[in-house]
Amino acid sequence: MKKILFDAHTHLNDEDMTDEDRRTLAEEIVNDSEVLGLVDPGSNLENSEQAVRDAAQFPFCYAAVGYYPSDTDGLNEENLEKIRNLAVHGSKVVCIGEIGLDFHYEEDVDHDTMRYWFRRQIQLANELKMPIMIHSRDADQETMDILKEEGAFSKERQSWFPKRPGPGGEMLPDSRVLMHCFSQSVEMARQYVKLGATISICGPVTFKNNRKTREVVKAIPIEFLTVETDAPYMAPEPKRGRKNKAPYVEYTCRKVAELKEISYEEAAVITCTNALRFYNITDLEIQR
Ligand SMILES: [Zn+2]
Repeated sequence: MKKILFDAHTHLNDEDMTDEDRRTLAEEIVNDSEVLGLVDPGSNLENSEQAVRDAAQFPFCYAAVGYYPSDTDGLNEENLEKIRNLAVHGSKVVCIGEIGLDFHYEEDVDHDTMRYWFRRQIQLANELKMPIMIHSRDADQETMDILKEEGAFSKERQSWFPKRPGPGGEMLPDSRVLMHCFSQSVEMARQYVKLGATISICGPVTFKNNRKTREVVKAIPIEFLTVETDAPYMAPEPKRGRKNKAPYVEYTCRKVAELKEISYEEAAVITCTNALRFYNITDLEIQR
């Protein structure tokens, strides 16, 4: 079996999954899919710890740790310190995330609380010189403003990471900021890429009514794209409405290939290479 896909954001740590479910899915990923690797992101302390356990158990799995905006209510410095400890000492932790802003739901966490802990976690990622994975919903401009203010795209931060190749082979600064499940405009995507960020494309790109994200894929060079499932949510067509899982990242990648007018295998290998570089994963090898 080829191993050419990387799921840049997938919740193997989901609280509805039992250990048995995780083992079953792991077997499917290894034996019946072209998924080489994935990153299992945290949204609070408990599932960040689970992500680290998953990474220790499964060779294809890497962890991200952090507090998602809607989980920041009641967060304190003591728990942030625990996230810091996981990031430093946990097995195969490659990123701080998912962190960000979500102003979608009226009865969610107070926005100032979200903003405060978003800033604190960018500061943590800077302190540890680690990649950052961003969740942003209905807060497009403010997410970018806070990232800028906290130095997520600073020259200093870019100096910590090797440069990345652009579409013409030229080497460009990399800020190692991943915009997970990108749903913003082409204009915002262009700005992010200029700042050294990477755009991660999720299942909704396959949805009939989602022209916006398809325009983003067309406009942004594939050198700056990754693909992801955000499983168990957001299953792509033709699995829409079902419980999502990492092997379905293939459908999102096929859509990216179609929009870029390149072969599926080429799109898979390029986005996989981008993800391995972004997370600085050196012990997985693409098998074509
Ligand atoms: Zn997620």
